[in-house]
Amino acid sequence: FQLTQPISYTDQSMRTITVEFSSSSETRNYPIHIGNGILGQAELVVSCLKQQRVAIVSNTTVAPLYLDRLSAALEQKGVQSIPIILPDGEAYKNWDTLNQIFDALLKNHCERTTTILALGGGVIGDLTGFAAATYLRGVPFIQIPTTLLAQVDSSVGGKTGINHALGKNMIGAFYQPRMVLADSATLDTLPDRELRAGIAEIIKYGLIRDPAFFEWLEKNMQRLLSRDPAILNEAIQRSCENKAEIVAADEKESGVRALLNLGHTFGHAIENGMGYGVWLHGEAVAAGTVLAADLSRRMKLINEADVARIHAIFQQAGLPVKAPRLKPERYLELMALDKKVSAGKTRFILLNRIGEAVMRADIPPELIIDTLNTCMT
Ligand code: NAD
Ligand code: MG
Repeated sequence: FQLTQPISYTDQSMRTITVEFSSSSETRNYPIHIGNGILGQAELVVSCLKQQRVAIVSNTTVAPLYLDRLSAALEQKGVQSIPIILPDGEAYKNWDTLNQIFDALLKNHCERTTTILALGGGVIGDLTGFAAATYLRGVPFIQIPTTLLAQVDSSVGGKTGINHALGKNMIGAFYQPRMVLADSATLDTLPDRELRAGIAEIIKYGLIRDPAFFEWLEKNMQRLLSRDPAILNEAIQRSCENKAEIVAADEKESGVRALLNLGHTFGHAIENGMGYGVWLHGEAVAAGTVLAADLSRRMKLINEADVARIHAIFQQAGLPVKAPRLKPERYLELMALDKKVSAGKTRFILLNRIGEAVMRADIPPELIIDTLNTCMT
């Protein structure tokens, strides 16, 4: 179950990964193209269109930066684009904004063969994917992620959806894109804090199943933080390979896909307890993973040395390694609300070692409290 080949690619050219659903009869396999500056390579997009017209969903932050480049490149290939520009923010990942997309698609007479492009971070990707899954009972869509988090995580795997007033990501669909186009050059304009938040999910892949990648990240963290294009491309590729393998094996999260939630049980409690938006998701996952490592040690799974390396790598990435101070009982309460609770038991993803995760539902609450007391600021 582990990727064992060493990392050997160091060039800056485009690389392509295929997400393969071997168990399904229809071929829903799709490519993930990764490269520096590939936003202008419209032939990649054009190759999978069924019509010389696309709708591009973006937001008021990303559109001024990258929409013109994309639509001009498409226009050169004879493809007309309909821009749909939404307000920026997690607060807009809701039914009203979704309706704005439908309004624009209908007004512009978009058809079953019109492909919808998502140009932006995870919020735009999730909204657009859900719109594509439901508009005319499903139209093709392409992910063009522009945050590190979206390039390594949210654009791959087919989870789409919106928030409900009573919970995050509560309404949605599994719907796979036709293609993912990750241009690492778009990350040049990403705020530092958002870059680091994406790195938290990258580290996660190393921890749950790819020890060689974890070691590589330990060695290359400074170059990753400085946005060295070759290092970014490698980190994105390796992350997507890991996520693609997990998703292909378990598309609808009935098994191994749950391992992707390492650090997320504590993390969601932090995000929720502090009020959404105060901590970025990746920041909460970083601290949550350090807590999960501490809990794994208390469960006699991982050793001290590995726990220290985990603490060190998040610190190197400039991510939080302690949870904010709340009453431990409050944390337990918040964790009981988590989606991964099944039959009243909170399930945790723990680590046997760096590179091997395991799901456990048998954790004594005293140990969780010990971890919280040790790992709060
Ligand atoms: P985001 O989409 O809110 O983007 C973060 C900020 O960066 C926004 O202000 C955005 O406008 C801005 N931005 C985007 N690209 C930029 C660029 N190139 N330069 C400058 N600014 C840029 O946040 P995110 O972290 O990308 O995604 C978070 C969302 O993704 C959440 O809603 C989460 O639920 C979802 N998510 C989904 C999955 C999934 O599997 N579908 C997985 C993880 C997260
Ligand atoms: Mg996450």
